[in-house]
Amino acid sequence: MTVFSGCSRGAPPPGRGLVIVTLDTVAASHCSLYGYSRRTTPFLEELARRGVVFEDAFAPCSTTEPSHATLFSGMNPIRNGVRLNGLVLPADLALLPEILHKRGWATGGFVSAFPVGRLFGFDRGFETFDEKEMVVQKGRAVANNRLGSETVDRALDWIGALDPERPFFLWVHLYDAHHPYDPPAEVAQAFGSDPLDSRAGTVRDYDRDVLYVDGQVRRLFEALEGKGLLAQTDWIVAADHGEEFWEHGLLGHSPHLYQEQLHVPLLMGGPEIAPGRVAGVRVGLIDVLPTLLPRLGIEPPAGGLEGRDLEPLLAGRVAGRDWNRPLFAVRRLYNQPSYAKLLQQGREEGWDLSASRLEEHGFGPAAALIQGPWKLIWTLGPGRHAPEVFDLEKDPAEKHDLQDAGGMVQDGLRERLARWVEASTRQALIAEPAGEAAFRRLAELGYVHLPDEPASDASGRH
Ligand SMILES: [Zn+2]
Repeated sequence: MTVFSGCSRGAPPPGRGLVIVTLDTVAASHCSLYGYSRRTTPFLEELARRGVVFEDAFAPCSTTEPSHATLFSGMNPIRNGVRLNGLVLPADLALLPEILHKRGWATGGFVSAFPVGRLFGFDRGFETFDEKEMVVQKGRAVANNRLGSETVDRALDWIGALDPERPFFLWVHLYDAHHPYDPPAEVAQAFGSDPLDSRAGTVRDYDRDVLYVDGQVRRLFEALEGKGLLAQTDWIVAADHGEEFWEHGLLGHSPHLYQEQLHVPLLMGGPEIAPGRVAGVRVGLIDVLPTLLPRLGIEPPAGGLEGRDLEPLLAGRVAGRDWNRPLFAVRRLYNQPSYAKLLQQGREEGWDLSASRLEEHGFGPAAALIQGPWKLIWTLGPGRHAPEVFDLEKDPAEKHDLQDAGGMVQDGLRERLARWVEASTRQALIAEPAGEAAFRRLAELGYVHLPDEPASDASGRH
């Protein structure tokens, strides 16, 4: 079953555009746009004056592929089946680039790392899809990351060749803020060069990478502006998830559903969107597709979208809090001994992105619900962590688990979260792991390199 039954409300005018820029691993808490002390995002601050900034925007997952799958499908990771990296987008999942391409839009996707690459189906619906050639060793894909400048260069070439008679959709994915933090030369001295202790130095390198990403977004938008393409273009800049710096004991992302990993920057602009900040209204990446389709004159796909149309917020018609709106997040949570073992393995031979290998190490799903001031994080498998409850108003850093004092609050949240997980699971699409067959097919097409001998520097990453 292919869930395409939407019909166009009319052809979009020539020159109509849509640009989505995803900033991998950029935490809202490390953006100066969101009040961070280092000036990490001067361009996003400029961009904010031309659009809407959502102060409380959340990712549906703390992992790259599921979060992007939600962004492009308007369905949460349980419903769309993409609960972790390494799964192929289900064939019957309607994706934004396909929806637009079917209606005659020129579509170009330019990505900087393979979790959102061809191997997993992220090229679907793109006339032009550009990523660095992938290498597969021992049946596993290894890193094909590239600098943001290379990705933006390719996107700018595509923009330069656009047919002015066709509407266009451009997606650019920037990966430079992802671990390992290795700031390019132009930002390597940013935020001072005084020696710092190891952890502070790590944070500074990450902040430099965020500054670099901000500069690449500037290059892209200045080119669009220079070509006169922004006037009729909706644009979105968002991160797929944040990053943890030991706030809850870990460095990186994926294992946790705390705010540092879920709270992301989200900016939107476009025709008839008045600039401003939207505070106090929680939104999610899951709202992006339900917001865009009506703006572009397209009926939503059959099967339903789970997010909300944010148009009233874009038009400035809603103010104040919206406490009853629940937001959910999920992920596979490694149980602690297995996760430690996996980390060790990761240090020795690189992160393992194979879903089946992760299953071998044992991990259970986790889910979170944010509603009103409350947040519940619940690991759903047997014998895992106890549920945690936080009051985000009084304790935004999630340091004080109210589990014992929560009482009825926790019970209510648990019941609501359980109902949501159950309902989502009942309607879930099935996403299969990318395996040998996918590698071979892409190798035949010239997109994947299959070496005879394994290289010594194999490294795949989340
Ligand atoms: Zn990511």
